[in-house]
Amino acid sequence: MRGVFKIKKFDIAIIGAGPIGLFAANFAHLHGLKTIVFDSLEEVGGQPKLLYPFKKIFDIPVFASITGRNLITQLKLQAEKNASFSLNHRVSEINHDDDHFLIDHEFLVKSVIIATGTGSFSPKKFPLKMDKEQTKHVHYYIREPKKFAKQTIGVFGGGDSALDWALELAQQPDTQIKLIHRRNEFRGLEGSLTQLKSLKNVEILTPYLPKTLQLVNNQLSIGLKQVGTTTINQQIFDQIVVAYGFRANNNFVRKWGVNLSGGQITVSSEMKTNIPGIYAIGDATTYPGRVPVIGLGFGEAQIAITSIMRSLFPEKTLTIHSTSI
Ligand SMILES: Cc1cc2nc3c(=O)[nH]c(=O)nc-3n(C[C@H](O)[C@H](O)[C@H](O)COP(=O)(O)OP(=O)(O)OC[C@H]3O[C@@H](n4cnc5c(N)ncnc54)[C@H](O)[C@@H]3O)c2cc1C
Repeated sequence: MRGVFKIKKFDIAIIGAGPIGLFAANFAHLHGLKTIVFDSLEEVGGQPKLLYPFKKIFDIPVFASITGRNLITQLKLQAEKNASFSLNHRVSEINHDDDHFLIDHEFLVKSVIIATGTGSFSPKKFPLKMDKEQTKHVHYYIREPKKFAKQTIGVFGGGDSALDWALELAQQPDTQIKLIHRRNEFRGLEGSLTQLKSLKNVEILTPYLPKTLQLVNNQLSIGLKQVGTTTINQQIFDQIVVAYGFRANNNFVRKWGVNLSGGQITVSSEMKTNIPGIYAIGDATTYPGRVPVIGLGFGEAQIAITSIMRSLFPEKTLTIHSTSI
């Protein structure tokens, strides 16, 4: 419960400040909509910022390649001067009458766009019991790779995030990286794996699962059990990075009356949910043929905002392009 507040009025609310929510905020501004953007995390950026800030993305139009972090910096630059933000704010309640939605008893808006991606994130935890001191050596996100210089780091996981973290940390001065996965095959990009295998300061340990953990001389001593055997391989790490993925779901939107299918929000071709005035865009949504990529989500944002404009201002002749000649 966020206490009692003076009601703040906006035209639209965007729930989720991932790449798609950020772009939607900018596009809403181009149409003159007063916008409030919410995110449950303390910083904007969603998956690219959180899960793969250093990975190069090759399928964003205009950029030959751009890292997750730089993409978010650019989107944030456009959005933050054009919208208001309420961060560290997990939207939990939406009440509505015929014309308005009241969000968490504080924000009154005419329309809502849900851009919650795969939902509120929480990382899958390292499966061993740890005390407070041991936990200090365990990381689920990396904000400043430089802090890992001159250390031995265990990276646990077999997907793109694990490979990306390993590659990024291997570039820091004097690091030793041990990439540990429970299978011999990795799920992440073959190219990243090939690159890792070529690096002298990277060792790949498979198939291993962490079994025991102790703090010895301010280092983690972890017993790795070779899968299918009783062999324990004892390894010492200054830090470990756990990239086992994230648990996330959008089930919370059910209590707003919004329909889901398989954990994602069903939408019409105008990105409308079953509740008039509530739209959904980006990875939060599902419809036949949808693929979870950023470029597609940008288009969905434009469709949703255009539809909102037509619905809120039916008398207006809508300007479709951002500028005219
Ligand atoms: C490892 C990896 C690599 C990828 N590589 C590419 C690539 O190369 N190219 C590409 O196009 N796509 C790629 N993707 C997919 C891409 O990241 C997603 O399609 C994109 O992030 C979806 O954006 P979004 O804004 O819909 O959701 P998200 O990025 O998931 O952002 C959703 C935001 O909503 C917030 N939120 C959730 N619930 C609430 C709530 N109740 N209240 C407030 N805020 C809430 C979350 O905190 C989050 O910040 C990759 C994904 C992964 C995991």
